[in-house]
Amino acid sequence: MIYDAIIIGAGPAGGMAARQISKKGYEVLVIDKKKVVGVPVQCAEGITHFTLDDTGLKVDEDWVKKRIKGIKVILSSGKFFYAKESGYSINRAKFDQWMMNKALDDGCKLLTNTRARGIIKKRDIWNIKTNAGELKGRILIGADGPASNVAKWLDLLKSREYLKAVQYKFDAEDIDYPGEDWFYIYYSKSFQGGYGWVFPRGNEYNIGVGGPGSVKGLLHQFCKSLNIDVSKRKIINAGIIPFDYKLSALTKETAMIVGDAAGMTNPVSGGGIHAALASGRISGETAVKALETENLSVIPEYEKLIKKEPYLDPILLKCAKYLMKWDDDDWNFLGEILDGRDQSALTIFSGFPKMLKHPKYFARSRELLLIRKAMRINQKYGW
Ligand SMILES: Cc1cc2nc3c(=O)[nH]c(=O)nc-3n(C[C@H](O)[C@H](O)[C@H](O)COP(=O)(O)OP(=O)(O)OC[C@H]3O[C@@H](n4cnc5c(N)ncnc54)[C@H](O)[C@@H]3O)c2cc1C
Repeated sequence: MIYDAIIIGAGPAGGMAARQISKKGYEVLVIDKKKVVGVPVQCAEGITHFTLDDTGLKVDEDWVKKRIKGIKVILSSGKFFYAKESGYSINRAKFDQWMMNKALDDGCKLLTNTRARGIIKKRDIWNIKTNAGELKGRILIGADGPASNVAKWLDLLKSREYLKAVQYKFDAEDIDYPGEDWFYIYYSKSFQGGYGWVFPRGNEYNIGVGGPGSVKGLLHQFCKSLNIDVSKRKIINAGIIPFDYKLSALTKETAMIVGDAAGMTNPVSGGGIHAALASGRISGETAVKALETENLSVIPEYEKLIKKEPYLDPILLKCAKYLMKWDDDDWNFLGEILDGRDQSALTIFSGFPKMLKHPKYFARSRELLLIRKAMRINQKYGW
């Protein structure tokens, strides 16, 4: 059988792409190497309400663990500021399954426990070699996550740099943390260019560290600083987060690369579900346009469309590279400007009086302006 589209990867990007194509009645096959979609979870399990609105999804209580007011950023001086964008602590495995199930209801086929091992294109058809035999499709969507092989096999990948992340899940009763309404993000030099997080989820907390180097020791240090006994952890999860991926293109002939496979995760926050859903949707819609018009040469339009969205705005990576080098003085300077307010309060007017107190920052005005611009994008597209 030759499918209209084969999607490698049943994460949010693959599930969303599958939904778009199957609802129009086309033959879609999704394969995933996992035995069960979404398991094991490699995620802090946070999404915003705007992510759902922006990608045409409706909240489902089945995967909501807790409603959250937004992000509270805590600095080493004790000062803090907010990114007030409401969202949810979710059950990520259930979320990924919910995304796939809708596509399955529309006739999509799913093969789990099926690992793609290589691809070849023969006479306009993609042949995917897997442990379950060879599978064939007219359109190929590479949604195979941050260590994507599809991007490599298509010869699109030039280089990739990623962050490492590790997280422990605790029962709420095993720790004593003074907050549960926000996602708490910690920035200080002690995270060595990365950051720590405490994500409340009702009866549990996800506590983790992400950064460019080795993060396990940093997580233990972080837990200690919060008086949390790491021996009480019940689940450990770890993974990689795209930081700076360079691809020569996001499409090749009738193939597209989406989500983490294309390095679309926000390099400042490490949040990537939003970009995965958005790119999955645009790739799926592009596939539908190609199939409806019987003109598969429209596939490269996907790249133009996704590049109009904020996810790949180069300003985000520039901002992340600056922040990675920030020391405690820099973070605490930002904390002094914002001092308990929302990050949108970072303006030339709020910053100028603090710069008079710390004149060394005049020489870094361009950097601060760029960070302010990136923070504006991140308010909606950070996670
Ligand atoms: C510790 C951690 C915490 C995070 N927390 C958050 C957060 O709170 N909020 C947020 O927005 N983002 C977060 N992220 C990022 C987010 O998880 C990713 O951006 C998101 O999962 C990307 O979705 P995706 O569909 O592109 O890829 P994935 O979710 O990685 O899905 C890829 C799928 O492809 C499958 N696959 C891979 N290779 C093959 C193959 N050869 N054959 C078949 N199947 C294959 C995998 O099994 C997987 O199911 C976090 C990441 C990490 C590591």
